[in-house]
Amino acid sequence: MGLLDKILGKTSGAPSKEVTAAPTAAPVTKAPEPVKQEVAPKKSEEVKVSKPKLAYVHLSGCTGCLISLSDNYEKLLDVLGAVDQVYNLTLMDQRELPEGKIDIALVEGAVCLQDEHSVHLIKETREKAGLVIAYGGCAATGCVTNFCRGGQANQPQHESFVPINRVIKVDAYIPGCPPTPEIIYNVAIAAVTGDMEYLQPFLADKGGYACGCDLFTKIVENGLCIGCGTCASSCPTRALEMQFGRPSLNNTRCVKCGACSAACPRSFLPVSQIEKKLMV
Ligand code: SF4
Ligand code: SF4
Repeated sequence: MGLLDKILGKTSGAPSKEVTAAPTAAPVTKAPEPVKQEVAPKKSEEVKVSKPKLAYVHLSGCTGCLISLSDNYEKLLDVLGAVDQVYNLTLMDQRELPEGKIDIALVEGAVCLQDEHSVHLIKETREKAGLVIAYGGCAATGCVTNFCRGGQANQPQHESFVPINRVIKVDAYIPGCPPTPEIIYNVAIAAVTGDMEYLQPFLADKGGYACGCDLFTKIVENGLCIGCGTCASSCPTRALEMQFGRPSLNNTRCVKCGACSAACPRSFLPVSQIEKKLMV
């Protein structure tokens, strides 16, 4: 009944429940109703729209990404209703990744290299999942975990954290600290419905290196900045502010979440195309 049902119904071309539930014992002598007969030629077979299996893998981070996901409130029902959730330590009593294949793995948090369990879990996730999405700054770029030097009370030996693409191949990135509820919702729906056009910017390799400096080396210093201010608006720590139509970076505030680079409208267009336009 939600938005996703509509989308699934449209994209899969599957008959609706009302049509499949049509009575099968039509009298032989009477002519059948023309419209229903055309739409549902097979009678009592139940048409099932299989939902993609989703695993929510939680590694090292502050859990802010999960909170941002839940900030979708009632729209969260669309997201959760769209998938068959098979693993989520916070929401389910399921301690291990299930056996067999998973369609989508949403990974929050960085990998702690001193934590054998985390390293094993992320590798197992890659083996089982068709699509691995680095969800949030820590998974995509390391974010604040880049600054960790160990010594935490409960696990003092945990001192090296890396974005997940340093350990496994990643298919898509959702940077941000945390990503906004809207972007999470939109990406989730696009992933479930296979809207690759929407997902295109997220498929580009934006993981593992992004920080405020990237804006300067890749965008501003290449003359590509249009002064739109999107980067400054997307920065969660206000490390960026617009000055004279260009972003200005306060390095000491940058947590390397990657949100600015990901949000910049010039960052995900092919540079060759932009250069061609600028040079003409
Ligand atoms: S400048 Fe801001 S948005 Fe960009 S990586 Fe640093 S903290 Fe994130
Ligand atoms: S988001 Fe806008 S202001 Fe910031 S670097 Fe990109 S083009 Fe320039």
